Amino acid sequence: MRLSRSFGKTLRDAPADAETASHQYLTRAGFVQQVAAGIYSYMPLGWRSLKKISNIIREEMDRAGAQEISMPVVQPRELWEQSGRADTFQPPLASLTDRRDRNMVLAPTHEETTTYMAAANLESYRDLPFNLYQIQTKFRDEARPRAGLLRVREFEMKDAYSFDKDEEGLDVSFQAMADAYHRIFSRAGIDVRMVEADSGPIGGKDSNEFVLLAESGEDTIYVCSDENCSYAANAEKAEFRKPAAEPEDVADLEEVHTPGIKTIEGLAEFLDVPISKTVKAVFYAPETSTGGEIIFVSIRGDLEVNETKLRNVLGGVEPRLATPDEVAAAGLVAGSASAIGLDADDGPRSRVKITSIVDDSVPNSPNLVAGANKTDYHLKSGNYGRDFEGDIVTDIAMAQAGDACPNDCDGHLVEHRGVEVGHIFKLGTGYSESMGATFLDEEGREQHALMGCYGIGVGRLLAATIEANHDKNGMVLPRAIAPYEVYLAGLNTNNEEVVAAASKFYDELQDAGIEVLFDDRDEPPGVKFNDADLIGLPLRVVVSVRGLKNGEIELKRRDADEASMAPLADGVAAVKAALDG
Ligand SMILES: [Zn+2]
Repeated sequence: MRLSRSFGKTLRDAPADAETASHQYLTRAGFVQQVAAGIYSYMPLGWRSLKKISNIIREEMDRAGAQEISMPVVQPRELWEQSGRADTFQPPLASLTDRRDRNMVLAPTHEETTTYMAAANLESYRDLPFNLYQIQTKFRDEARPRAGLLRVREFEMKDAYSFDKDEEGLDVSFQAMADAYHRIFSRAGIDVRMVEADSGPIGGKDSNEFVLLAESGEDTIYVCSDENCSYAANAEKAEFRKPAAEPEDVADLEEVHTPGIKTIEGLAEFLDVPISKTVKAVFYAPETSTGGEIIFVSIRGDLEVNETKLRNVLGGVEPRLATPDEVAAAGLVAGSASAIGLDADDGPRSRVKITSIVDDSVPNSPNLVAGANKTDYHLKSGNYGRDFEGDIVTDIAMAQAGDACPNDCDGHLVEHRGVEVGHIFKLGTGYSESMGATFLDEEGREQHALMGCYGIGVGRLLAATIEANHDKNGMVLPRAIAPYEVYLAGLNTNNEEVVAAASKFYDELQDAGIEVLFDDRDEPPGVKFNDADLIGLPLRVVVSVRGLKNGEIELKRRDADEASMAPLADGVAAVKAALDG
């Protein structure tokens, strides 16, 4: 493509609201155009990249035995009522009414439609397993779209759905998709980690995320420092070994005056004890509660509550922090509260419903400083079992960098930032039950198919790749997903010899099957070099008066600091060698 004829222009400045590198560079380089909040058009350069990503995904899905289909974006709301998600999907479904007054939705995902398709075609165990996928547009009416292509409302997604006759089959299908994902990301030229993830409110057995490592990423993951250990999980899911406290004699409970002390850090400092020798109380309520119910969490002072783990402990009930009014109504003293005395006559439990949840760090730690449940007083030597108990004792703590790996190894957790680019999920029979995807097994009994679902955000993958691969001048695109492989710049466009040589070389490269963006514009060298860096193609090739004096062209990889010269006569071979790097 000749840049002089290429649609779209590079921009000197990014839009004011562009905070992330990918948003800035994709806009400045003319890859995308924003149409509305979270809604983008792909321009020619951006669409070429997107198609390359799609092609890699398609080839690997086909290779894994999945079959491509295409399902509608606009669908009847009844499908979603059948699955039970019409009113619960988050963000709420975008809806419209058609001319027959029928309620329609814009699909944010396609479990319903795929299960509908499967239900109509599935009869016998002999029909299983199968895996259906599409690469298609979805719409999610996010409240706060942001960060360019990272958090959008309309997006391209590859979604696949597997159907199996039993758990063993689902395990095989799931593994096949995990393997395909590793191949996809490797071919795209990006460094992605598979991490354990929370299965979320739908339940399901296993769930893994694929996270592209990037400092600017919004997700936190933990990876074991031991090279021989494969443990990796996202922050919501991460577990860790909590070292037992040093054994010591259990002391008598002792009330101490702690005037004005409201925080756990202040308390530890005031009493001159390590923060790990304190127990703090955190008050939650079920998200939908309008009062009269407290989820009372006790956790060691040096740990934080993981609300995803807490939600799972509560059987999927979403927790929210209790309001000051709710805390006061229970007779709890914020800043001086503990589970000691919850059951006292006229105590908190006599006033409101309380579920006491204790992190498993607490029973292992003797003689903790705890709240005395009256203003400006705390208790020394609080001991689990003797002084208080929990309705549930389990792990509800956030992992932190440096915590011991939960596996049987000597490693510790190392924190990384990243962007989620894929998610694979064992769904089980939830959708096949609600939507009637059944089959007859070997004994002629009716069974529900076991499902898995597998997603990759295609535009998100492009944006995430740029988050991980850029410098102050622009993008540094991997060859497999760059819109072109070579940025060929003819300098000194007033020189006929240069123009002729550059045009001839452009043809030669194309004849050799190399994808070239040819900067034949009448612009000064500085402009061309800046645009080459901004667009970030893997290799820049320069034809100039100075080089031609020696019969040479200049080659510079985008990811290298130094340029090199090569004879123009062997130019095509030199370009191929440089691209192969
Ligand atoms: Zn480990």
